[in-house]
Parts: sequence; structure tokens; C-alpha cells
Amino acid sequence: MSETILKISGLRVAYGGIQAVKGASLEVRQGELVSLIGANGAGKTTTLKAITATLPVADGSIEYLGQPTRGKGAWDLVRQGLVMVPEGRGTFTRMTITENLLMGAFTRNDKKEIEEDIEKVFALFPRLKERRNQLAGTMSGGEQQMLAMGRALMARPKLLLLDEPSMGLSPIMVDKIFEVVSDIHQQGVTMLLVEQNASRALQLADRGYVMDSGEITMSGDAKALLNDPKVRAAYLGE
Ligand code: ATP
Repeated sequence: MSETILKISGLRVAYGGIQAVKGASLEVRQGELVSLIGANGAGKTTTLKAITATLPVADGSIEYLGQPTRGKGAWDLVRQGLVMVPEGRGTFTRMTITENLLMGAFTRNDKKEIEEDIEKVFALFPRLKERRNQLAGTMSGGEQQMLAMGRALMARPKLLLLDEPSMGLSPIMVDKIFEVVSDIHQQGVTMLLVEQNASRALQLADRGYVMDSGEITMSGDAKALLNDPKVRAAYLGE
């Protein structure tokens, strides 16, 4: 079996007195695309924030590349290849596309390879290449999502966390984004994908986890989850 990249055991995260994640366990192995699905407010984003050390862990453990993340800062983890594309994208609106991509490579100083990686991102997203000198803030939501994903790839992630990449996008753009998620997976990037679009997320994934009210209620092979009557009834509107 391939190497475990991320292992979460009994994770608890609270906002003041409110428990948002109540003992969740999950893992992601080298090369996998794992989808975490669940309704609004289930605790998916909170889980990602705990993984990236942007929220404190109340209890349980998170291991990244075999090491506990406890005591590490968010930047330490980014330097180790743990990169998140947040909900809402977080692009630098007053910078151009190319400048945004370069920001993604801030932990690196291999200039030639950075330039090669920019070309790879442009190959994945031709739209970004066409608009390389445009300010990020003037782009559509879908284009900004592409840019946020491209910028994350510039860090050469060992684990890429995607929070609701399809949120708020037009159907055509949703298709495009999932196509690229699939391409990135084919290229061997390990990913944890958080999505409310359960059907699309499970179609692409190797494995999936279902989160409900802060707990993991189901997990397993993504295709099996996709065909599970309980999942279909609760998350696929059947
Ligand atoms: P969504 O798809 O709507 O983002 P989610 O599964 O990502 O949902 P979270 O955003 O992790 O859910 O929220 C989990 C719970 O924690 C919710 O009940 C939410 O109201 C609560 N919560 C999230 N952020 C905060 C905060 N900053 N302060 C207090 N409670 C919060």
C-alpha cells in the first residue's frame, strides 16, 4: 500500500463552546484523490483549517508526512508542501495573473524550474495564459478559481487541499474545474477535495468520506459511496 501522506485521528475542533468537528478520523495516501462531502455546516472547512494549522486542534492528532503537525505553524506546513486553495479563492486582486503565480512559488528559488512550472500551469489553464498580464481582481469567478489552483500548484504541493472549488460557478465552469482536478490527479498530485457537489466529487475520487454534524458517518471506495442508497438519498437528491 502506498505511503500515508495525511492521517487524522479523533480530531476535535471548537469555536468557543461550539464543537464543529467531533472526533473525525481520515487519511489520504500518496497519489490519491480523496473527497470529503457533506451538507452545509458539516465541518468540512473547519477540518481543512485544522489540517493547515490555521485553527487550533482541541483534541486528537493530525500527522502530515508521518510527523505530528502539532506545534507547527501554517507557513512551516506550506514549506513542506501542504497547500490549500481556500473557499473564495484568495487571489491577490491587484496583482497580475503571472505575479499571482509567482507568489505561489515564494518558498522556492529555482528560477528556471519556476518558469517551467508557470508554463505547465498555462498548459493546464490556457485561459490564464491568454490573460497573463491582466489583474486578478478583474477576472471572473471561474478564472479566479483557476488562478488559485494554478498558484497552489506553483508550490509543488505534496498534498493539495481544495475547498469547494466549484462553488458559485456557472455549469460550464464547474465542468472545466472538475476536468482540471482530474488532470491534476492524473499528473500524480495527492489531493483532498471538499465539495458540496457530492456526485461530481465522488465520480472523480478514489475514496470518499461523508461528514455530518462534525462526524465522519461513512467512508470507503468513492464508487461504492456513489452507489450507496443512503448517500444517494442524503446527498444526491434522490
Ligand atoms: P460549508 O460548506 O457551508 O462551508 P462546512 O462543512 O465547511 O460547510 P464549516 O464551515 O466547517 O462547515 O462549519 C462547521 C460549523 O462550525 C458550522 O456550524 C459553523 O456555523 C461553525 N463555524 C464555522 N466557522 C465559525 C466561526 N468562525 N465561529 C463560530 N462558528 C463557526
